[in-house]
Amino acid sequence: FNTARFGQHILKNPATAQKIVDAANLKPTDKVMEVGPGTGNLTVKILEKAKHVTAIEMDPRMAAEVIKRVQGTPEQRKLEVVIGDFVKVDMPYFEVCISNTPYQISSPLVFRLLSHRPLFRVAILMFQREFALRLVARPGTSLWSRLSANVQLYAKVDNIINVSRNDFRPPPQVESSVIRLVPIDPPPPVKFEEFDGMNRIIFSRPNKTVRGNFQAKGVMKMLEQNRSTWLSMQDMVRAITSWSLVPLPVDDERPVTKMVDDILTELGHTESRAAKMDIDDLLKLLSAFHEVGIHFS
Ligand code: SAM
Repeated sequence: FNTARFGQHILKNPATAQKIVDAANLKPTDKVMEVGPGTGNLTVKILEKAKHVTAIEMDPRMAAEVIKRVQGTPEQRKLEVVIGDFVKVDMPYFEVCISNTPYQISSPLVFRLLSHRPLFRVAILMFQREFALRLVARPGTSLWSRLSANVQLYAKVDNIINVSRNDFRPPPQVESSVIRLVPIDPPPPVKFEEFDGMNRIIFSRPNKTVRGNFQAKGVMKMLEQNRSTWLSMQDMVRAITSWSLVPLPVDDERPVTKMVDDILTELGHTESRAAKMDIDDLLKLLSAFHEVGIHFS
């Protein structure tokens, strides 16, 4: 096998595999999506507990292996294997996601899951330790980052199992951790591109003041452009429908720089740093920007 190309490190410790599957608290009615089943070490344990598994595997040889493994058993009809790249295929309906995939797809995996509808109940995901720790980091700690904020806007995440590299064959270079991700239901009514766009600026230098990061080269110019695009769109909507979707802040003559400064002052963030701002601070800030027509995407 070309292990490098697909990041194939097979989980060889059955106790660890069992812990991962147990963490999902599977019910006999559950439909599970497994990403990257490999030779099926997790798959067979999931099949024991769940109603149905759709396993998405990119390597046809691995897909053949996992199919062969259940052939002729009662579990066979509970398993569907989709051959394809998880990042590109349509996701099936599922209540639970379990995945031990290569670390190259960590970020797309998380964000694809979070944008999937209907919401699933829980995901149990194996990641490189550093990535897992950033996902679960809390504000005020050194690992709190744009990734932490973006994920924790939509989900509750916990680090549940530390996995040694020696549990795999061949052992990867890095240590791993399994996290549990539970989507917040209903999700906050915030456009991801907006929240992320603002966080890009705020977290560009997490230990500098937020104010300083907004003054970085190009930022204000971009916000001015976004604002005039947004205003003209609102004008168009108003012209077509003869009513406005939101009260328009068109009469606001302040330059965008001043608007940003005023908002940071009003919300008490003139000296704040992203490193200490929690989701609630970030959401309040975003909504204050939206009120004056400042957008980030
Ligand atoms: N889950 C198995 C286990 O725990 O033993 C295998 C783990 S191995 C680290 C990752 C598996 O994901 C491999 O079988 C690999 O072929 C598959 N894979 C890699 N990239 C993928 C992708 N983009 N979509 C679906 N499967 C992928």
